[in-house]
Amino acid sequence: MKYVLVTGGVVSGLGKGVTASSIGLLLQACGLRVTSIKIDPYLNTDAGTMSPFEHGEVFVLDDGGEVDLDLGNYERFLDLTLTRDNNITTGKIYQSVIDKERKGDYLGKTVQVVPHITDAIQEWIERVAMVPVDGKEGPADVCVIELGGTIGDIESMPFIEALGQFSYRVGRENFCLIHVSLVPVLNVVGEQKTKPTQHSVRVLRGQGDGLLQAENIVTLYDVLNIWHIPLLLRVRIAMVGKYTGLSDAYLSVLKALLHASVACRRKLVVDWVAAGDLEDVTAEEAPEAYKAAWDLLKGADGVLVPGGFGDRGVQGKILAAKYARENKVPYLGICLGMQIAVIEYARSVLGMADANSTEFDSETTSPCVIFMPEGSKTHMGGTMRLGSRRTYFKVNDCKSAKLYGNVASVDERHRHRYEVNPDMISQLENAGLSFVGRDETGRRMEIVELPTHPYFVGVQFHPEFKSRPGKPSALFLGLISAACRQPNTIPQNNGHLPKPVANGTSNGHVTVKPHQNGHAFKPSNGSLNGVYSNGNGVHF
Ligand code: GLN
Repeated sequence: MKYVLVTGGVVSGLGKGVTASSIGLLLQACGLRVTSIKIDPYLNTDAGTMSPFEHGEVFVLDDGGEVDLDLGNYERFLDLTLTRDNNITTGKIYQSVIDKERKGDYLGKTVQVVPHITDAIQEWIERVAMVPVDGKEGPADVCVIELGGTIGDIESMPFIEALGQFSYRVGRENFCLIHVSLVPVLNVVGEQKTKPTQHSVRVLRGQGDGLLQAENIVTLYDVLNIWHIPLLLRVRIAMVGKYTGLSDAYLSVLKALLHASVACRRKLVVDWVAAGDLEDVTAEEAPEAYKAAWDLLKGADGVLVPGGFGDRGVQGKILAAKYARENKVPYLGICLGMQIAVIEYARSVLGMADANSTEFDSETTSPCVIFMPEGSKTHMGGTMRLGSRRTYFKVNDCKSAKLYGNVASVDERHRHRYEVNPDMISQLENAGLSFVGRDETGRRMEIVELPTHPYFVGVQFHPEFKSRPGKPSALFLGLISAACRQPNTIPQNNGHLPKPVANGTSNGHVTVKPHQNGHAFKPSNGSLNGVYSNGNGVHF
């Protein structure tokens, strides 16, 4: 059994329960079975005797247990059926020790908080953790324990001592501590203050031996809805390409996604979507593959269409770009991924049903993408527009210019034969597309954006080739930041870590209705069904 202990620092009502539930949900999404224990350091035996106005709802379990409302969160988030013993209170622990004392179990001994109360706590946790609560046989893999209250409270001290001992009892490799603390933002410039958390951690370390490393710190911003919290902890990107599953075929793109995800402190999950499976023909020929592909696309936080050649899967890629555009899902189109985004726009928005690239249809009446004049049709090898070329920003307040650090131009690597038809630019721009980056002549399109979309960017070049660990590609960073729904974390300098979002930004706030003791309002029902049901992504 692995144990994850969640404690709170500075103030109550920070969302320890939601954090603990979210961690449980992520572990479940990784295929692990999870149980949970809530510790309430009050003397009431259970929540049944407490006023809901003071302590929040009394949650009722199958076995009749009247428990803290956090158990309701666990049951809903994790789809568990908990028992009354999954809610430990000071009252229950003392009662069990005093009952034993009366029976004479400790005969001759002085009964003390340490070791008798602390031992009773540990034995209780170990016993209850083994009870299956997910309808399956045998114990779960992980037990998430939430300690109510705030570190430093006198009443939680026996629990802190007991849990410190417990970490040695079960082995340090089986025990992980998560401390949820407040980092207030005090002024308009959004400076974060860590002092209260420093004090809280010092108290925690004084009572145990918690070790902190910078990479173990995760920032969770205020969100509009608690059900977004698990989503903040990971990011799912759908890669819509021809060679799905052949990760080496898109190695640099994968690495670039990884660099950006690390910078955004998100765990990257890449779902491969075979472009052809999104097409209407698949709906008839292989309905299951069609449904699976669309489920993956719809489950993604962001969509990436990488470069490619030849017409197989092109229609599917166009459908993916259309889906991302219409549903405001962050989209990055690279090379062919940019070209198909332009074709899609011409078809859907300009009503040019026949719009195409001459690479795929030489007879098209609306050639949005055409063979470059300087190309060779007779020699295929080494005759593309290759290598580093300069892109000049024509629009300065566009997303990509900001991502690159407000520079006037960028050098990126190229590999293509076709380009967006310069003669169709004014029509496309009048319809809302913005060609923000161009080559030195101004006639070759390098970067296209949709200003009305959170992040819809197409580039003729391949930014993945210049992405580095610790110095992620600006445009991949833009994709991942937007996919995390933290567009304001987009840094002003290429390669720098995203800045934390200050309160009061467009990210919004948690809408909470505090009870008298500061317990946050928690929705009575909710479901994350479907969020994790979309196939087996490749985890990085
Ligand atoms: N086939 C397209 C072209 O040659 C796109 C190339 C690519 O995506 N690398 O222009």
